[in-house]
Amino acid sequence: MFFTGAGISTESGIPDFRSPGGIWTKMAPIDFDDFVRSPELRREAWRRRFAMEETFAAAKPNDGHKAIATLIANGKAGAVITQNIDNLHQDSGVPADRVIELHGNTRHAKCLDCGARHELAPIRAHFEAHGEPPDCKECGGLLKTATISFGQAMPEVEMARAQDATLSCDLFVVLGSSLVVYPAAGFPRVAKRNGARLVVVNREATEQDEIADLVIHAGIGDTMRAAMAAL
Ligand SMILES: [Zn+2]
Repeated sequence: MFFTGAGISTESGIPDFRSPGGIWTKMAPIDFDDFVRSPELRREAWRRRFAMEETFAAAKPNDGHKAIATLIANGKAGAVITQNIDNLHQDSGVPADRVIELHGNTRHAKCLDCGARHELAPIRAHFEAHGEPPDCKECGGLLKTATISFGQAMPEVEMARAQDATLSCDLFVVLGSSLVVYPAAGFPRVAKRNGARLVVVNREATEQDEIADLVIHAGIGDTMRAAMAAL
């Protein structure tokens, strides 16, 4: 089982929102309740999202993503649990049903009322023409990127799938997460308690290094290229 965080995607040019110098150290994230309550904060959320679009659109999967895709394709790994919202695991060829997204996905939008999926391009076109995001075509509800914001409930289905996947593995490999954001960061501990071996690959020390069987403080691309060459 793989578990990935921001560190795997920084190697594809996507900034780590939480790291020193990251976006959230410069501007506070917009809480879910504020998004629902305030038209102005909804406009601000969409302005910020569209300002990031070129970054997301240009990002390509790197050797870390590709190694996971290969190991899932050949049956060595079951799935990837990710804290990332950038769709790069799917872009690397991992089937969507093998990617467990704990914090959702920012490459499309969802209606908060009926759950209908909406693509971002028409939302952006409407926003740029009218200064407002459109309402849901199906039900008139509010549209938001399909991410989990601060203050928003964790996705129940994904949490249950992540729990099952964690309990069924004998090796749990963390790539690029500092393991400080809960409940996501609880999964490595669950795996370890359940008897799996735990590997942590991250540039900086993490809070769970001390319970890991193997800790590698290095880049993910470099590490996974070496690991794949050795297999
Ligand atoms: Zn709707």
